[in-house]
Amino acid sequence: MKPEVLALKQQDIFKFNARAKGIPNVINMTIGEPNFPTPDHVKLGAIKAIEENKTHYTVPEGNHELLAAVANYLNVKYGLDYDPLTQIVATTGVTEGVFSAFNAILQPGDEVLIPSPSFTIYGPDASFNKATPVYIDTSKTGFKVTPEVLDQIMTTHPKIKIFLINFPSNPTGVSYTHDELVELSDILRKYDVFVLSDEIYSELTYNYKHESFASFLPEQTILLNGLSKSHAMTGWRFGVVCGPADIVAQINKIHELATTSITSITQAAALEAYTNGFDDPIAMREQYCARRDVLEAGLTKLGFKCPDPDGAFYLFGKIPDGLDQDDVQLCNDILDEEHLAILPGSFFGVGGAGYIRFSYASSMENINGCISKLGDFIKNHTHA
Ligand code: PLP
Repeated sequence: MKPEVLALKQQDIFKFNARAKGIPNVINMTIGEPNFPTPDHVKLGAIKAIEENKTHYTVPEGNHELLAAVANYLNVKYGLDYDPLTQIVATTGVTEGVFSAFNAILQPGDEVLIPSPSFTIYGPDASFNKATPVYIDTSKTGFKVTPEVLDQIMTTHPKIKIFLINFPSNPTGVSYTHDELVELSDILRKYDVFVLSDEIYSELTYNYKHESFASFLPEQTILLNGLSKSHAMTGWRFGVVCGPADIVAQINKIHELATTSITSITQAAALEAYTNGFDDPIAMREQYCARRDVLEAGLTKLGFKCPDPDGAFYLFGKIPDGLDQDDVQLCNDILDEEHLAILPGSFFGVGGAGYIRFSYASSMENINGCISKLGDFIKNHTHA
């Protein structure tokens, strides 16, 4: 097997979840996908496409009516200005978008700069493309990259071809302010580097309106977004890659080689979501926000400190003093003793040790159960 395959960090999460599944009555707070159904009108869009026999190959980038709807949506929501025919490709989720973009850009020996802890695919994707992931430990800076650190690393690493940023973040839930994005883009403008901005959680922000990296540095930014989180559509596998026309054309070539196109049925569903589903995320967002507040209050009472949970549906809690600081051991013990599944921060890479990721894409009942089980565990285990 290729060594890159063995390096797949995501295996840790799969293995942990497989173990959790074998435990009776487990409360699972590890899941990174909405526990809401896909909106009915979106499902009907797909059903209609099937009934009308729209079930054949499409052009690789996606039906042009769909791409126009995506461009309009991104314009209305985030003020972005993409030409649908040359600057957008529909991909099999952000997951394929990352892979195809890396494949189009990277040469062997290049480097990819990744703030860490992070979503688990970026490093392995870089390795598969014979590039080296370079991680920035953000744990001492509120889980954000600072302009000073970014500038220092960019200056000393001329092989970096991609700076990967994800906000709101998985696993920490933190995001960047307008001013922080201005500062980061001012630094990156000085370098010959692409910014791959994974904004899959852009509709799940709680006290502010999301701004895209692409609005600060359009000429260097490749924006990744999709419907998995905003419209509870993880299984449909829909994403978009948007950016400067020349690089998007290259990415589309890789995408075509790998997939021909995404499925015609998913394209029909996505067309409906991007045309008539502007408000679909609102009700879900309200529920996530209420759950976040309950979970954060409960965790704080138990001594967990969480970085500012601005968005997504995760809290990243620092393990309180007095408990085992080995997050992997601790999460395994909590799973065995309390039948509560929560993920060790270490599974998300450099900077994650000593933390636990809690997903609140889960019912309020599970959230309350989680707090109560954690309380019991702490009572039984706190050292004097
Ligand atoms: N990016 C981040 C930061 C994620 O957390 C996830 C899923 O958890 C994805 C991308 C995957 O997105 P998609 O379903 O569009 O492939």
